[in-house]
Amino acid sequence: TPRVFSGIQPTNHLQLGNYLGAVKRFVQMQDEGMETIYCIVDLHAITASFQEPAKLRHATRELAAAYIASGLDPAKSILFNQSQVPQHTELGWIFNCVARMGWMNRMTQFKDKAGKNAEKASLGLYAYPSLMAADILAYHATHVPVGEDQKQHVELTRDIAAKFNHDYGVEFFPETQPIIEGAATRVMSLRDGTKKMSKSDPSDASRINLTDDADTIAKKIRKAKTDPEPLPETTDGLADRPEARNLVNIYAALAGTTRDAVIAEYGGAQFGTFKPALAELAVEKLAPISTEMSRLMDDPAEIDRILGEGAERAANVAEPIIAKTYDIVGFVRSR
Ligand code: ATP
Ligand code: MG
Repeated sequence: TPRVFSGIQPTNHLQLGNYLGAVKRFVQMQDEGMETIYCIVDLHAITASFQEPAKLRHATRELAAAYIASGLDPAKSILFNQSQVPQHTELGWIFNCVARMGWMNRMTQFKDKAGKNAEKASLGLYAYPSLMAADILAYHATHVPVGEDQKQHVELTRDIAAKFNHDYGVEFFPETQPIIEGAATRVMSLRDGTKKMSKSDPSDASRINLTDDADTIAKKIRKAKTDPEPLPETTDGLADRPEARNLVNIYAALAGTTRDAVIAEYGGAQFGTFKPALAELAVEKLAPISTEMSRLMDDPAEIDRILGEGAERAANVAEPIIAKTYDIVGFVRSR
């Protein structure tokens, strides 16, 4: 039976790309009645740069609140933070010994995040995709809803599963399928149409945060980088206009419609007309979520309770899978 797993790092406030590319899809899959497991991947959050402990704790609870405010129901989905389920780390180590250096060297996210000076990057950042494979395969998950940028990591997960199965002569880990769907699988920075929108981008103006108020959202969209031309009359006209294409994609995803439909309505319009319409739509869709988030954040103890309960349920699923893995590998288990 299909089982869905995905995660988000508590590195900062959730940004619009996370919502449109990931969370919205998480909620749909839950509501379609699939078995869904959604994680706050705090172990991954400390790989790229030092996280101030109080901020990490706050971001973890805020991400839980964002999930729930977006429609994730802890009674239907398993919702938890990664570090409370040690099976992730246990399987991650085994996968560190299955994955090859050459495979990791091809990971574009490592190159992006390590920057020019890879010598200064943490070992954890390098091993990140191997831990991500463990996150998924500790549950024998088959479907992984993610944004476009995570496709390579999900493919690596398949390679790790295949090599493990081959090396040990078993049919144990399933093939995982990345689910990359919708109008906004790669939302771009508002300051640079060639760079993906990211929570951890140093420029706050590059993204819309789920915690931004209406004025901030309107201001960021008004200041978003664009070319001086009006919107084209057909979607083909967006081909070499990354900034315009991005704003049209965002509009389509927020409205739950297609790019063609947006161009049918706004083709020929100036940004002076389109941007305020986009800002209004964004506020209309995001304000209820951020209001509900701040309400939930008033009771952090309740959030912790939900995460603890989710972690217990997650561990119940992962524990027998890890026990079987240890058995396959040949580790003596005598207690
Ligand atoms: P960081 O900068 O810390 O890596 P991030 O914004 O990239 O943060 P992640 O926690 O790495 O967020 O990713 C969470 C999910 O959001 C993943 O499924 C990822 O593919 C998706 N995602 C991230 N950025 C975008 C984006 N710009 N457009 C669409 N999906 C995105
Ligand atoms: Mg990321």
